[in-house]
Amino acid sequence: MASDSKVAIITGGASGIGLATATDLTAKGWNVVIADINPQTGVAAATKIGATFHQTDVSSWDSQLDLFKTTFQKYGRLDFFAANAGIDDKKSIYEETPEELEKDEPAEPFLKVIDVDFVAVVWGVKLASWYMRRNQKKGGVVVLTSSAAGLYPMVTNPLYAGCKAALINFARSVASTYITDSIRVNVICPALVPTSIFPGNLRDFFPEEHLTPLSTIVSAFNRFIDDESLTGQVVECAQDQHYFRKQVEYPSESQRWMNEDSGP
Ligand code: NAD
Repeated sequence: MASDSKVAIITGGASGIGLATATDLTAKGWNVVIADINPQTGVAAATKIGATFHQTDVSSWDSQLDLFKTTFQKYGRLDFFAANAGIDDKKSIYEETPEELEKDEPAEPFLKVIDVDFVAVVWGVKLASWYMRRNQKKGGVVVLTSSAAGLYPMVTNPLYAGCKAALINFARSVASTYITDSIRVNVICPALVPTSIFPGNLRDFFPEEHLTPLSTIVSAFNRFIDDESLTGQVVECAQDQHYFRKQVEYPSESQRWMNEDSGP
């Protein structure tokens, strides 16, 4: 029998944006499945907020299939899917050495960013829509976490920016396909939210007033969950859009933090 409470799967839910959203939904009585590659942070987070942890590597089809299957078997429904797990490319793709470029295969980290930030999202959306069509009351909500980096040229992280841009038009396109199944697909594009995706403390590099609080992102998720008229929509969640755009399009020497392996 299907659970009375609504059910959410949040990838990358062990930390940062995913955890803030998971915390908000569990507080509202949802059954939340935190799907994350990191079992240490995942178990601790799930225990703390009363969610379930499912160790998942989103870059593996089998791992995501197991996540969705197990969740649906346990709860009998899926109301919300956040394709939120993401990784950054810490080093510019243009910094590969000539030897690396001459290899037959592209560098491993290069492929990993594409797998996690784009391919995994496509798989997740496919699986979520498959199960949402099997809900007693057909339908559900999918939100993809893109980035403001998907909206503007990002000099320091072109691969990350490219994957995040691809997500936006992918979402807009599948939103039309799924409309007949009452599945809504929307996109959030955060900017400069202090989380562990950055190798150091953003506050050491940017003034607090330009950083976007987690609560702004959680509100955007909630709007997409609650407003049944919204599908195929893209929202930029930046405390200061102009500031962010200036930083990423024209990074000065002191702001090259995004491209440093050692981090800020
Ligand atoms: P975060 O590092 O705090 O959280 C990311 C989570 O994803 C981590 O718990 C990590 O373990 C998990 N993860 C990484 N690879 C995974 C994999 N293969 N399978 C499953 N889980 C995996 O960072 P965050 O800022 O909360 O990032 C969440 C999303 O927001 C990402 O998609 C990121 O690109 C996006 N984003 C963040 C910002 C920002 O300013 N923080 C801006 C724009 C976009």
